[in-house]
Amino acid sequence: MQWLWDEKGRRYLDMFAGIVTVSVGHCHPRVNEAAEKQLKSLWHTSNIYLTRPIHEFAEKLTAKLPGNLKVCYFVNSGSEANDLAMMLMRAHTGAWDLVSLRNAYHGMTPYCASLCSVSSYKRPQAGNSGVHHTMNADPYRGIWGGRNCRDSVVQTDRSCDCQSSCKAADGYAGQFKDLLDHSISSKKMAGFFAESIQGVGGIVQFPKGFLPQVYEMVRSRGGLCVADEVQTGFGRPGSHFWGFETHGVTPDIVTMAKGIGNGFPLAAVVTTPEIAATLAQANHFNTFGGNPIACAIGSAVLDVIEEDKLQENCAVLGEHLIRELEGLRGKFEIVGDVRGKGLMIGVELVESKKTKQPLAAAKMARIMDLTRQSGLLIGRGGNFGNVLRIQPPMCITREDADFTVDVLRESLQKL
Ligand code: PMP
Repeated sequence: MQWLWDEKGRRYLDMFAGIVTVSVGHCHPRVNEAAEKQLKSLWHTSNIYLTRPIHEFAEKLTAKLPGNLKVCYFVNSGSEANDLAMMLMRAHTGAWDLVSLRNAYHGMTPYCASLCSVSSYKRPQAGNSGVHHTMNADPYRGIWGGRNCRDSVVQTDRSCDCQSSCKAADGYAGQFKDLLDHSISSKKMAGFFAESIQGVGGIVQFPKGFLPQVYEMVRSRGGLCVADEVQTGFGRPGSHFWGFETHGVTPDIVTMAKGIGNGFPLAAVVTTPEIAATLAQANHFNTFGGNPIACAIGSAVLDVIEEDKLQENCAVLGEHLIRELEGLRGKFEIVGDVRGKGLMIGVELVESKKTKQPLAAAKMARIMDLTRQSGLLIGRGGNFGNVLRIQPPMCITREDADFTVDVLRESLQKL
């Protein structure tokens, strides 16, 4: 279910799924049933013991991943998953330097905060020893452009004229190489960390061909590549189950959280047996990781995504929503960009299309108020806080999508 009620009984359409977390809908009956069943049988043994729910969930989850990504570590949040991924990268390579992208968000623990690069989430206390941020491959704001080179299902006024390789992707990859050549003095690196589409950073999609070039450069320097699938995983991109698949790359480590547990604390790191072997001798431990109730829920969520064809729903409704929102972009001067894939959509608001100056904070706050008053919950992100984020439960209907566009249209008109 995609509806929420406040204490006065007013109904809201939840088009942000908590924070992109309620993947199959609030209180889904089959997920509830799996949780209740497990609740009555076993709550906790710690991860000293391998219980049946861990085993079953790990089998189901790894079956969804390509290549040799077959070893799961279960933890409780996205930050914990990314912390563990960083530790694995550094332990496995024996190197310290990591690269993440400007505009990235990877969590709030000190380790993860050092990877973050959205200015409001930068934490000087986190330090950033060994983490380098390269300029972002942002096709709307970046200097090499590439708006037409994004992997979008809807190509309205856009067509990419790149021939054998993408000019925008080559431009961004070139400056990535420059950073590696100049800043990673040891010439050896632990690796590269990226979301497949940046979520908190404002639904930023990279031009086609950027990530494959980056993966090759990182691996040629001995580094590992990590895909943070906390927002992009579990069918949300529509065309694929994982965001990294839309770029044609296979990571060495995949981290996941949020939608994996539909709102229950559950997260995972999946990697190859070779990389996992690094931690095998280290007595790595996590008291709540692999909690039986969390794992039973994770299994049920995977079943529901498949049985209810939610990935397919993301593809169909994502295309419909992007097309309709493109219509608003044609009508309103302040709608600068519409982007995304599946049910991960961003609408960037600006003072004018020509200057791309981010819409003033007070106007953004007003839009958020107007939409909420009309019974619509959406999110907000981007380095300037000027991107509306539509990342709903994957079970929404066409009527919900149309209601969302209608409320946005009315709110933009009132502004
Ligand atoms: N990675 C990404 C891409 C995220 O969006 C988030 C949360 N917004 C995290 C990691 C951190 O997850 P958590 O809040 O569960 O620690």
